[in-house]
Amino acid sequence: MAINGTPRVGLVGWRGMVGSVLMDRMTDEGDFALIEPVFFSTSNAGGSAPLGDQPLADAYDLAALKACDIVLSCQGGDYTTQVHAKLRGEGWDGHWIDAASTLRMKDDALIVLDPVNRPQIDDAMAAGNRNWVGGNCTVSCMLMGVGALFKAGLVEWMSTQTYQAASGGGAKHMRELLTQFGTLNAEVKPLLDDPKSAILEIDRQILARQKAMLDGAESEQFGAVLGGSLIPWIDADLGNGVSKEEWKGMAETNKILGRGPDALGGSDERAIPVDGFCVRIGAMRCHSQALTFKLKGDVPVGEIEALIEEDNPWSKVVPNEKEATMRDLTPVAVTGTMNIPVGRIRKLAMGPEYVGAFTVGDQLLWGAAEPLRRMLRILIEG
Ligand code: NAP
Repeated sequence: MAINGTPRVGLVGWRGMVGSVLMDRMTDEGDFALIEPVFFSTSNAGGSAPLGDQPLADAYDLAALKACDIVLSCQGGDYTTQVHAKLRGEGWDGHWIDAASTLRMKDDALIVLDPVNRPQIDDAMAAGNRNWVGGNCTVSCMLMGVGALFKAGLVEWMSTQTYQAASGGGAKHMRELLTQFGTLNAEVKPLLDDPKSAILEIDRQILARQKAMLDGAESEQFGAVLGGSLIPWIDADLGNGVSKEEWKGMAETNKILGRGPDALGGSDERAIPVDGFCVRIGAMRCHSQALTFKLKGDVPVGEIEALIEEDNPWSKVVPNEKEATMRDLTPVAVTGTMNIPVGRIRKLAMGPEYVGAFTVGDQLLWGAAEPLRRMLRILIEG
């Protein structure tokens, strides 16, 4: 479908967590001036739209969706499963941009992260691709930080240990984490207020309360206690000792880089091994990752830092010093910003080609909304 004039863009899922961040970014960047937005809802068709005077359209109304040049969905995987194939089945050849993982590994979908894979996006556009999907949040944030090392062909393999925020599960998970923190604080408040109370007594009462939380609604979202603890498993159990989140690390990194059999159209370039453990921690919306690289040679740290710093406007090297790290390399420092700081860059004891790094990214921005917004802009600007 060639887009003539102002593109009609259907926005589905605009009031969800990712959708709300997307709406803010589109407003900040003046994107609404370039499109004719049509707001859809799965629950409130006929209600008021956030912009303009048209009521909300029904997100299951295929005719209304087919009238759009572009549909951008942050609604979720179930919606994509229900609607995308039907739309395509009815011959709609508009552009579908999606936050959900449903289509990510399909042969006719490209994972979009244009500061990293703009050449693949351009090739796919030229080849007539119509499905554009945002990547896994951890993968996108990691590649925004250290993608330069992959692009330079330096990486033999990479191991990731993640520290992932509650928001990755959704809004209810963020609420549950904070409620757990509040409950735990309330449990020992009198003891905390008394400087002479015994810390081991506080610890005992906290543990008892954490264990009590396991039984009921207090840990319903995560299925485990996250407040004052962590959960070393994210997403489905693939049955081979690997979590789905860990599997995505290698599969999606390589697909984004256009390597391996899953690349759009398949690629003869060997997939780079990426593996490690994905862990949920009590951060709100920034994912952090400790990375271990085996590089193909002994690359000086200064060269690595220069590659990262120059790669894109958002990757920032944090000097590997205590003060700078504690100031600039934490979820609190990064939340709500577009910056992807990369710090703790140093050679590891295993040998000169082994390098460690630590990176943090707001998983609702670069991890979810921003790659979609930028893909929309790329399509609009042709
Ligand atoms: P979400 O907040 O649950 O929103 C999804 C939809 O739920 C909304 O569009 C809305 O649809 C409906 N909804 C029902 N009650 C609501 C309420 N009280 N407030 C707002 N919306 C409500 O989902 P999400 O976390 O943004 O995730 C959307 C998609 O993005 C998923 O596929 C997810 O996997 C993907 N994703 C998420 C993240 C993340 O960190 N959360 C990161 C990357 C990708 P109606 O307006 O039609 O009722």
